[in-house]
Amino acid sequence: MDLGIKGRRALVCAASKGLGRACAVALANEGVHVTLVARGVEALEATAAEIRKANPGVEVTTVAADITTPEGREAALKVCPQPDILINNAGGPPPGDFRNWTRDDWIKALDANMLTPIELIKATVDPMIARKFGRVVNITSAAVKAPIDVLGLSNGARTGLTGFVAGLSRKTVKHNVTINALLPGPFDTDRLRTVSAGQAKAAGVPVEEVLGKRAAENPAGRFGDPEEFGAACAFLCSAKAGYITGQNILLDGGAFPGTL
Ligand code: NAD
Repeated sequence: MDLGIKGRRALVCAASKGLGRACAVALANEGVHVTLVARGVEALEATAAEIRKANPGVEVTTVAADITTPEGREAALKVCPQPDILINNAGGPPPGDFRNWTRDDWIKALDANMLTPIELIKATVDPMIARKFGRVVNITSAAVKAPIDVLGLSNGARTGLTGFVAGLSRKTVKHNVTINALLPGPFDTDRLRTVSAGQAKAAGVPVEEVLGKRAAENPAGRFGDPEEFGAACAFLCSAKAGYITGQNILLDGGAFPGTL
């Protein structure tokens, strides 16, 4: 299927690894010019080089910055001021017990996983409306659909973003500007492996045991492949997806047990 987005421009946040990277790769494979943002230069440049090699006709630019800061967002928007496609992503907040979280912990989580995407939407959505094409995809979490006990900061901040977008996405769609969220369950990324390593250490068992048990518990019997996530993202960003807006699409191998 031709997704009809060749030559479009995408700003992909937190894109050097994992799910953000997979979205950037899938978009570049469709001929979309991509600006990749991530904090660490080395992984960022390595990902950019791979994408350039695989897609010689695609422009790949990089911004080494923390997207959750005003300076980071300014730097990203300077390199890609008018994206047609915006992929909002950043690292997730740490786990813990809400009794130990301070106001500062909450502000940090809200800044990263709610206010940063809203600021980036604010900076880019009106030009998208004027051009009659825009696709925003927020990478949130399965925790929006079913809260994860130890991830209260994530449950709260991401659900706040989801509520805001539910309203805005119904205002922009008549201009062919859609805003949706992809909700990852367990995907095989560095983050999943780091979290599992922490759990293994705490339980005094090998990390392979934790990973194996988690994968086996999923109805699919495995973790998600980031490439599968990137493909879903590319479709939501496609010219064909103009009638899909305000949706929260779960990619979790069937782990959420509800009928709807
Ligand atoms: P990852 O650790 O594999 O990759 C994260 C990427 O984001 C890296 O490129 C890193 O450099 C970049 N990054 C992180 N914080 C940033 C910041 N402030 N500014 C710029 N770049 C930043 O993580 P992942 O597994 O791809 O997760 C992506 C998001 O999806 C996270 O918010 C995570 O909590 C969420 N999520 C992941 C899973 C999963 O199973 N992998 C499940 C649910 C939710």
